[in-house]
Amino acid sequence: MNKISESKDYTKRLLERFVKYVKIWSESDGNAADNGVFPSTERQWDMARILEEDMKALGMSEVQLTDGCYVYGRLPGNDAFSESVLFLAHMDTVDEVTGKDVKPQIFENYEGQEIKLNNGVVHSVESDEALAEAATNRETIITTDGSTLLGGDDKCGIAAILTAIEYLQEHKEEKHCNIEVIFSPDEETGHGMDKVPMELIKSKLAYTVDGGNIGELESECFNAWAADVTFTGKACHTGDAKKGKMVNAVSMAGKFLSLLPHTMTPETTENYEGFIAPMEVTGSIDSCKVQLLLRSFSPDEIEQQKCIVSDCAEAAAISFNGKKEIKFKQQYLNMKEKMDQHPEVLEKLRKAFREAGVAIMEKPIRGGTDGSRLTEMGIPCPNIFTGGHKYHSRYEWVSLNQMAKAADILVNIVRV
Ligand SMILES: [Zn+2]
Repeated sequence: MNKISESKDYTKRLLERFVKYVKIWSESDGNAADNGVFPSTERQWDMARILEEDMKALGMSEVQLTDGCYVYGRLPGNDAFSESVLFLAHMDTVDEVTGKDVKPQIFENYEGQEIKLNNGVVHSVESDEALAEAATNRETIITTDGSTLLGGDDKCGIAAILTAIEYLQEHKEEKHCNIEVIFSPDEETGHGMDKVPMELIKSKLAYTVDGGNIGELESECFNAWAADVTFTGKACHTGDAKKGKMVNAVSMAGKFLSLLPHTMTPETTENYEGFIAPMEVTGSIDSCKVQLLLRSFSPDEIEQQKCIVSDCAEAAAISFNGKKEIKFKQQYLNMKEKMDQHPEVLEKLRKAFREAGVAIMEKPIRGGTDGSRLTEMGIPCPNIFTGGHKYHSRYEWVSLNQMAKAADILVNIVRV
């Protein structure tokens, strides 16, 4: 059933909500977050306070803004059924493109005409398959004005969740289970679950609403490890370096990088293929450090990648008669293993998609999500589409109709 996407009234309210939220500047700061600042920007509090007010206005209970800048609220079930489901979305936007002074442009019943925006940003159905599809369906789309990102990542998710709550509040005849909602800061910096209020969460299953094109359902992500390879050499005057007096750590790092297989880089892999990504080189003759990311959907392949890194580092060190040290660190794990232990989570979700008439497109996430962290903490948490496209760019656009379908799916999930 499509209670929201087929209602002009609710779709309009969804749009108003979305436009209101994208106009609030809530960019996070990756550098500050990595230096331990949490939330990484003060402006995320502005967004959080507004969401707190809006959740109260919707009559949600136990609404609170935690010390860590998480907004939490509940909608108690109206049936004897006691199950509880958690919905999550993040309120920050990425810092690669500014999210300040967003001026959303709305194209109602978009017919596929070329859209020219500031800074040479052009949308054309010839070069964007998803946009062509949206034009065929005469969907209402929302773009930036070309000078900022839109912030549909993840304000689509927030707007869809709150519109689903509003619908349920106004239709008490719809029996639904207990619902918990958390809006989190700093997802884009990778720290979104650092201070998540686990003590408040009663649900045993959760859904992030943070995906892209209609139909997307994500329940697998990378296993992620970091590797620091440090080469130690011996510095001396360059004019007097022969006969083993100098051992050059920079040369060892270069040799190491050249030995890594070129078929296993982010640039040469896709879909279910894993990679080894050199990210940063720092140092001098004495000591030179190479930082890498290891990514794979399979734990076995991660072990192989560790062996490759170790072997290449060893060979580089030997050929220059130097030393190497390697440190591996786990970052996050593929959700699939835990998800497989709770098949009901995905079954419920697939049923909700079918009821909304949305064809399911299951695909792996070539990264991690707040959902992967939460899944590791024991609450399985797949990710649902939002109707957002071309995230993290001035080319970002959103389909209102698809966002409404996401809201329909949320209603279907909690309906008893
Ligand atoms: Zn996101």
